[in-house]
Amino acid sequence: MQGSVVIDLKNAIRTIPDYPKPGVQFRDITTLLGDARTFRRAVDELVQPWAGLKIDKIAGIEARGFIIGGAVAHQLSTGFIPIRKKGKLPHQTVRVTYSLEYGLDEMEMHSDAVLAGERVILVDDLIATGGTATAAVKLLRSIGAEVLAACFIVDLPALGGVQRLRDMGVPVRTLVGFE
Ligand code: AMP
Repeated sequence: MQGSVVIDLKNAIRTIPDYPKPGVQFRDITTLLGDARTFRRAVDELVQPWAGLKIDKIAGIEARGFIIGGAVAHQLSTGFIPIRKKGKLPHQTVRVTYSLEYGLDEMEMHSDAVLAGERVILVDDLIATGGTATAAVKLLRSIGAEVLAACFIVDLPALGGVQRLRDMGVPVRTLVGFE
């Protein structure tokens, strides 16, 4: 990806200091999404390695992963799978527990959302520690999906999430990094 594109996308992301708690620099992508040019550019760059390949579904992580993942799925002409916080999906689900900074949380997807062997790409807005994304990969694999890759607009490399996904055998694409 060209350096000028990276700068363009990075400049479109707003940083909110001390949100949602002191010490966190919240990388707010709503400003990137609100600009037609940067929203399209980000989606085009995310899909670029997979254009023309056989992909069955995009899995998006609630909530910002729904916005980006929906656009990516449309662009690649695939289906879309929502991965949600527990208790939100109406049909039979599979569930995974994962750790957050304080305590545990659970996420779910419909147990019939993927057929065994289907090729899926995971999408979210940002990867930090990778706790959320690695749990989503486990969930997808638990019902037989082949997770081809994971992609994110933002990487926080100091937190090591990309490496955690790669250690699970998942190739990762990210567009911009914030130290
Ligand atoms: P993690 O599980 O640590 O990789 O955290 C990733 C999830 O938390 C993603 O769904 C992000 O939307 C959200 N997140 C974590 N840290 C930030 C941050 N600094 N700015 C914005 N979103 C964040």
